[in-house]
Amino acid sequence: MSRIMVSMLFVLAMMPLAQARQVRVGVAKVEITPPGPIWLSGYAARTKPSEGVAHKLFAKALAIEDGGRGRLIVVTTDLIGLPRSVTEPVSASLAKQYGLDRSRLLFNSSHTHAGPVVTPNLMTMYFLTEEQKRAVNVYRDQLVEHLNTVVGAALRDLAPAKLSIAHGTVGFSHNRRTKGGPVDQDVPTIVAHTSDGKLKAVLFGYACHNTTLGGDYYQVSGDYAGYAQTELERLQPGVTALFLLLCGGDQNPNPRGAVAHAEEYGKALASEVNRVLPAAKPLALDLRTAFQITELAFAPHTREQFESESKDENKFKASRAREMLRAYDERRPIRRTPYPVQAVRFAKGVALLALGGEVVVDYSLRAKKEYADTDLIVAGYSNDVMCYIPSLRVLREGGYEGETSMIYYGQPGKFSEEVEETVFRSVRQVLSQVGVKSK
Ligand SMILES: [Zn+2]
Repeated sequence: MSRIMVSMLFVLAMMPLAQARQVRVGVAKVEITPPGPIWLSGYAARTKPSEGVAHKLFAKALAIEDGGRGRLIVVTTDLIGLPRSVTEPVSASLAKQYGLDRSRLLFNSSHTHAGPVVTPNLMTMYFLTEEQKRAVNVYRDQLVEHLNTVVGAALRDLAPAKLSIAHGTVGFSHNRRTKGGPVDQDVPTIVAHTSDGKLKAVLFGYACHNTTLGGDYYQVSGDYAGYAQTELERLQPGVTALFLLLCGGDQNPNPRGAVAHAEEYGKALASEVNRVLPAAKPLALDLRTAFQITELAFAPHTREQFESESKDENKFKASRAREMLRAYDERRPIRRTPYPVQAVRFAKGVALLALGGEVVVDYSLRAKKEYADTDLIVAGYSNDVMCYIPSLRVLREGGYEGETSMIYYGQPGKFSEEVEETVFRSVRQVLSQVGVKSK
């Protein structure tokens, strides 16, 4: 066979594949600002519902379709945290409507503390009246509808596109447990252009609590992450900006407390993303996804312990103890929590890991070290936010992220010492399922 014939056959053999592998991207957003006063989430010190709206809240969806290899939909929300009781019905309905496997859906929350309570996330933190409870329940039910709507709209928007990836760095996150402690100030950025070169969508992440605004703030706001998205959409008219919260469980913006700080951090983040956009490297999309639910075990606890705690002066502790006693009464004491772990491989050498809960930065740093040959994005606050996820180091140190936050999350107490290894066992499994190997 002549060389020309061989190469012609090669071209013919490749053609259906090339056609099938056309990349399409769709993006959509829906406003999810609460329609009236509602209890704001994240701070135990608040004494009344919200008073007005400083900054609108959105749910956004980025749909990526890799011809024969299927789709990925990343849903981002300006909310404290999406519990399983929200992501599961949405996933079930999307599976029915669009045939989307669970591994194809990634739900992330920005962790704004100036957004509505999303039940049952952090429910031990609030003592709501019946009317206030009704408002948050109505909000939660509407949220399920909104998330369905936004994904449907992103799928209808699918059109030929090109994807690329860039990284920036922004320095406003600080380790809030230890001065000078570990941080991860990477700003990973996934960029989508239309086939004629127009910027369409930008998904960018950062590992820092979205808590510039404090517990004395009573207006609805997306905090720094909300301002960052608005600012990027202002700098790049026509683009949809989506924020992904990474492993910021033990990271805070610093200084904090004023709206001006939230605006400043939002602008810093947006201008860094904007700066690195031209340097984004093309992604030869080869999409693979994996999702699993593992279980994280809590340290042993007893009924007697909660009987004594139920009389505690600390009303949050006493309330948590009453919940735990009810669980004992019903013969279902809480020994472990389900924990979602998801991997997405975008292209050879480029992957995203999405972990549930308020993940501390140690997980991101360790995963990036163990997978140093891969350009790895490590998101926290994904698919379920059931509590903080301390590393073994943070667990042993104790404190808020290691132990006491479990009260507000209605969990029985700190995790057992296997927590980090259990998460990493699952991490290795999902990454291996999408063809990503450790170093
Ligand atoms: Zn938090």
